[in-house]
Amino acid sequence: MHTSAHSGDGAKTRWAREVARLWPVAKGSLSEVRKPCTRPNCPACRDGRRHRVFLFCYREEGRSRCAYVPAGAVVQVRQAIANGRELERRLVAEGRAWIAAQRRPDQDHSHARVKP
Ligand SMILES: [Zn+2]
Repeated sequence: MHTSAHSGDGAKTRWAREVARLWPVAKGSLSEVRKPCTRPNCPACRDGRRHRVFLFCYREEGRSRCAYVPAGAVVQVRQAIANGRELERRLVAEGRAWIAAQRRPDQDHSHARVKP
């Protein structure tokens, strides 16, 4: 049998359903930093407390970038990063299983030693 749990339309539908549940997704890191503002004589800046700001840092085309995250979106951004990690974990597992399912019994070289 060439069809299995990891090939064919059934697997594609299942994958689409699982991936949709992992919304929103993001890849990067969230950090909390303290920044000065531009207001003159700001009490928080004058005594060194400054202002709490959340940054989402990520890589794009080999470059590190950061974007401000509104305080109200921090919880969702954390969830998006967790979802992104789960998505990557599933990508690895799904690819491995799909490739394993492409083997036909008459061409089965699975006994061959493959160095990682
Ligand atoms: Zn300030």
